[in-house]
Amino acid sequence: MAKEDSEKVNPCKCGVPESAVADSHIPIIFDKTTNEFQLTYAVEGVNGSGSMMFYYCPFCGGRLPKSIRDTLFATVTDSETRRLSRLTRHINSIKEAINEFGEPDFDSPCVRGVSSVPSDTKSTKFEVFSTITYYNLSDTCDVEFIDYGPDGIGKNFTGKYIGDDN
Ligand SMILES: [Zn+2]
Repeated sequence: MAKEDSEKVNPCKCGVPESAVADSHIPIIFDKTTNEFQLTYAVEGVNGSGSMMFYYCPFCGGRLPKSIRDTLFATVTDSETRRLSRLTRHINSIKEAINEFGEPDFDSPCVRGVSSVPSDTKSTKFEVFSTITYYNLSDTCDVEFIDYGPDGIGKNFTGKYIGDDN
């Protein structure tokens, strides 16, 4: 279903998602920060968990509350993205990033699900990549370097969190 059609779907009024959230045996949560109903799952092999957002009620097919995720992060302009691309263009490894920008503000391996079939959790393999993040290279975004090993280095410019912390 196209995104613009979703407004035409009646909102969920069956109450099942709310009861599911209240029942600790059912892996459905409501994330107040993002205003999203989510399916949670354990990630095999690593000590972690993931979640997937529901757009529609899995029980009655009604529309679920609109996510406010977009409003929680600063908007990154095209010119800022271009500036950061230029700034990091010559960086080809985590080591080069540290040589250039100094010690990172955050250094934590990141777990990514790798799957050739989107949303097919059975064929999803989870891999762990070294990841470092700088908070001070930009006013609006955090700059993240991900070491994909033989596949090279990934660079992410993600809008800074601007939501309330509670
Ligand atoms: Zn419903």
